[in-house]
Amino acid sequence: MSSISESGVVEAVGKELFIGGKWTAAAGGKTFAVSDPSTGKVLCEIADASPADGMAALDAAVGAQAAWAAYAPRERGEILRRAYDLLLHRADELALLMTLEMGKPLAEAKGEITYAAEFFRWFAEEAVRIDGGYAVAPNGVGRFLVTKQPVGPTLLITPWNFPMAMGTRKIGPAIAAGCTMVIKPAAQTPLSMLALTGILVEAGLPEGVLNVLTTTDSGGVMEPLIRDGRARKLSFTGSTAVGRKLLEQCADKVLRTSMELGGNAPFVVFDDADLDAAIDGVMQAKMRNIGEACTAANRIYVQSGIVDEFSRRLTERMSALPMGRGTEPGVVVGPLIDEAAVKKVSELVKDATDRGAQVLTGGSAVDGPGHFYPATVLVGVSAESRLTQEEIFGPVAPVFTFDTEDEAVTAANNTEFGLVSYLYTSDLKRGLRVSERLEAGMIGLNQGVVSNPAAPFGGIKQSGLGREGGTVGIDEFLEVKYIAVSL
Ligand code: NAP
Repeated sequence: MSSISESGVVEAVGKELFIGGKWTAAAGGKTFAVSDPSTGKVLCEIADASPADGMAALDAAVGAQAAWAAYAPRERGEILRRAYDLLLHRADELALLMTLEMGKPLAEAKGEITYAAEFFRWFAEEAVRIDGGYAVAPNGVGRFLVTKQPVGPTLLITPWNFPMAMGTRKIGPAIAAGCTMVIKPAAQTPLSMLALTGILVEAGLPEGVLNVLTTTDSGGVMEPLIRDGRARKLSFTGSTAVGRKLLEQCADKVLRTSMELGGNAPFVVFDDADLDAAIDGVMQAKMRNIGEACTAANRIYVQSGIVDEFSRRLTERMSALPMGRGTEPGVVVGPLIDEAAVKKVSELVKDATDRGAQVLTGGSAVDGPGHFYPATVLVGVSAESRLTQEEIFGPVAPVFTFDTEDEAVTAANNTEFGLVSYLYTSDLKRGLRVSERLEAGMIGLNQGVVSNPAAPFGGIKQSGLGREGGTVGIDEFLEVKYIAVSL
């Protein structure tokens, strides 16, 4: 760490668009500023793509598709493997860069670099396991050959909260499957993606396979590419509201879609749970990424016999968390991404307290510079509160009380979202029974973190379509082709 400086890591990143294997200024030389959310200071200026730049990126991806699909799977896998090694080798610099643009504490940023790299290792291994089949037709005469082929050029859109991992979770399987890409990171955190681009080039990714657009006009640049029809897939991670809009745009040319959208995770603690483990679990599920995670525990349901003890211990832990700039040693609560995020969290807390919730710690925004909101615990929260239906996306832990298993399941499922649910119990039968009843794509059973590159990540209901990671992750970038053979 000693050899790297804040200005040094920002300086080292390409600041232009990356199109057809070349760093390119945006049309008219337009740029925009990227800022540090803990100070509000500008870190650097980077290229601001126009719709014409977007079309040039799509042209490059379309032009490179046939040659890329013909690469040996082993070669594609080895590019990923080299990029994995480079990511780990540069983890300290990349973590600092991420903390500067996004705000999360350095230790968490470094954890994200490792997590992000693991997608490359996983999909390096998957690239050489794309399978097919040969079968005898029911009539005994014909034969079925089944093979898998890359979907084709893809459009990838990623959010600001995990600036590196949400990229590698899409780029990894796209490379493994043989798809070319146009990727658009969030304007608030584009530097991690630009750094990743440099690493993939160094790892030997051919020209035109990955094209990167940074822009302040995400809708204006991406909609024409979606409607163009030459890209065959959109993989999006972000809010449900934007996801819905993009699904409509994709309908026009019937693009394949993967949608990783918003969450509203319930965290259910039964009175037979190991309380120490449940407190550790809720701290992880609530405070990972300062609460700015789609998997964040949004509603904490605790059985009535233990709710007072649970709330007391949770408050003790939350009130002890150091808040500050993510680069400072020991900080756990970094800044939120922007002032709008602080305003939204403040409004949700005010709405809950107006309806009778009590604040045990935190509860009001901290004056700037920077966009800080402290770790907060609310008890006695009404089921009518807005935060039962909306993502808090901040370090606020609302505790609700329940008596029966049925009551807990009904409350937990009372949301349009279905990404992840957590439950803590020492009774394995209850654990499995409730896991089956919870409406979510993922369940943390006595576990506060579910994300793992080797497991299928994704939601049901309005949390999305498709899965990323695991053995199914690559299928999102493959088409199945069946060849009917007459002998
Ligand atoms: P967002 O506002 O939906 O933005 C996500 C991405 O879409 C950004 O790159 C954004 O670019 C872009 N975008 C916005 N409007 C667009 C449009 N009309 N056309 C094309 N692109 C557009 O979400 P966010 O606030 O960045 O991220 C937080 C949300 O992501 C939360 O709801 C969270 O739960 C969800 N999330 C889900 C997962 C998951 O795996 N399910 C993982 C992480 C986050 P600009 O910001 O530059 O406009």
